[in-house]
Amino acid sequence: MCNSVCKLFPAYLTPKEISSLEMVFVMFSLSTQNISEESYFSCVHLLFTAKCVDIALSSCTDVAYTQMVYPNFLDQKSREVIEYSSEYLLISVLHNLLQGECNPDLRLLGCSVLAPQCEKDKVIKPCRHVCENLKKNCLPAFDAIDMAWPYFLDCDRFFAGEEEGCFDPLAKLRGEVDAEEDLPSDLPATFIQFKHHSYSQMVSTLKKTASRCSHIATTYSIGRSFEGKDLFVIEFSTKPGHHELLKPEFKYIGNMHGNEVVGKELLIYLAQYLCSEYLLGNPRIQALINSTRIHLLPSLNPDGYELAAEEGAGYNGWVIGRQTAQNLDLNRNFPDLTSEAYRRAGIRGARLDHIPIPQSYWWGKVAPETKAVMKWLRSIPFVLSASLHGGELVVTYPYDYSRHPLEEKMFSPTPDEKVFKMLAKAYADAHPVISDRSELRCGGNFVKRGGIINGAEWYSFTGGMADFNYLHTNCFEVTVEVGCEKFPLEEELFTIWHENKGALLNYMEMVHRGIKGIVSDKFGNPIKNARISVRGIQHDVTTAADGDYWRLLPPGTFIISAQAPGYSRVMKRVTIPTRMKQAGRVDFVLRPAEAWPSKLLRRSMEDAYNPQDPLELFDPHAQHGQAEARGGSAAGREKPWWWSYFSSLDLHKPLWLLKQR
Ligand SMILES: [Zn+2]
Repeated sequence: MCNSVCKLFPAYLTPKEISSLEMVFVMFSLSTQNISEESYFSCVHLLFTAKCVDIALSSCTDVAYTQMVYPNFLDQKSREVIEYSSEYLLISVLHNLLQGECNPDLRLLGCSVLAPQCEKDKVIKPCRHVCENLKKNCLPAFDAIDMAWPYFLDCDRFFAGEEEGCFDPLAKLRGEVDAEEDLPSDLPATFIQFKHHSYSQMVSTLKKTASRCSHIATTYSIGRSFEGKDLFVIEFSTKPGHHELLKPEFKYIGNMHGNEVVGKELLIYLAQYLCSEYLLGNPRIQALINSTRIHLLPSLNPDGYELAAEEGAGYNGWVIGRQTAQNLDLNRNFPDLTSEAYRRAGIRGARLDHIPIPQSYWWGKVAPETKAVMKWLRSIPFVLSASLHGGELVVTYPYDYSRHPLEEKMFSPTPDEKVFKMLAKAYADAHPVISDRSELRCGGNFVKRGGIINGAEWYSFTGGMADFNYLHTNCFEVTVEVGCEKFPLEEELFTIWHENKGALLNYMEMVHRGIKGIVSDKFGNPIKNARISVRGIQHDVTTAADGDYWRLLPPGTFIISAQAPGYSRVMKRVTIPTRMKQAGRVDFVLRPAEAWPSKLLRRSMEDAYNPQDPLELFDPHAQHGQAEARGGSAAGREKPWWWSYFSSLDLHKPLWLLKQR
């Protein structure tokens, strides 16, 4: 209340300078604005009895001025009151919460409110435009950790316009930064900072990138980590947020193992690169984004990343932060459908695709991160994917689980061995170090194999994400080990980006190999969940909701058929030439069948997703007893991870930092 009154006072005036005419004006304004006498006098107190004292707040010792005044703009009357307030605690821990983002700027802005500048017994308000600029730049960092903008940094309430006389609390800082960061004018047009990104820096960079390219990009979250961090995706497409008919969907996932951080950084750089190059008119990038919907999930394990980052770049060994906060290895946490595929492989007519998740899977511990990926896979008809790991230089492809449980290194191909080899080579051949046959690198030697290997032949494991993609969905996924070091020093990141950039682009373009088309009935109605089979390959893909499908295939001649329950099967012979930039278009029109073979009908019913699937019901966040009252007010909801920073406050917990939903 006081502060809305104080806004009426010119901020630069001392009592003596306010003329009686101005006093009359103030009194008049008060009466028209219905402001109580009490708050009027507390405000008069602030301005008329201002007595400058030295600043003794340890979080504000580096402000550009030396003296402040009590009470401050929040009506806090002593140093002790300020030091025990949640507002002061917040500005003291902002650096940790936002992991460096927006600091020290935000802290200094907070100091200008908590420790108002005082000069010759005159209080000077901080400038509104400084607050507004900072809010614009830093709001994404707050969004990233699901924190509301602090009320005491309300630019309208506590700040003043230039005409009223104000000071710039960041002036000193700006002087320093300008001197340091005088960027050379010959910088490339795409400016990427090759550094390690903390969680909040990552989210803020992704959001800034998406807003810079808002016509072709957006961000969204696929769910939360065990500790509650959003699993952020940046999406590029000409119609962000929507699937378009016949446009293939692609994804990259990084940092599934929290200590393997290169993939995460590569995807952050890639997002900035795609945005800038699109804007600059790079024809390759424009063609890619115009014809593809691209999803980049830089960090699937942000909790593990945090642990690894504490160890620091260059020091991280092979295990710390690999697992999630729940101590689960995400690349062992998916349902094992590979065993079921091996069981079915010998059965005539059986298909090794869209295998349902066994009930028993849900009896074990399912990570919220795993569940988020599974729901994501179900909501978008992905065609192609790669998961970026680190610690080697090689591309591996399914199966990752050996076809003989006792053989730990056994070549275990899928029915799509040729497709997977083509995909893996697309990455490896475009990577100058992976493809350099003369060089021996990291631990393993994959030179003779051209830098690619069947996963189970390298080493067998069960519950991997790539096998699950292939056996449960239409998506083909390979695993790329993008560098010898899991957590390299910052100075190496630029070189690593340059080695991987071409390969990352080349691999995305592979989503346009093979054929695609629409399956419909004779009236042109799309048929969803129709099966597209390739003779000789025991693995079908199915049509998406609009009847569209994509079938990755190597060059060659194939017999393709489409079928759906209640319709007769249609077959076509197609030839895919060696050089092809776009998937060949092959549509199918199905006619109603007289009698649908009961065997086929049963099979397709069996394989359909179970609507009662626990995936839809199961809430892993409910598992670990954080069940404070759900729903209702913001105060009663499950608290975000940063809430613990304020646990020392008995009263006055900063409920204003919780977002209203
Ligand atoms: Zn890994």
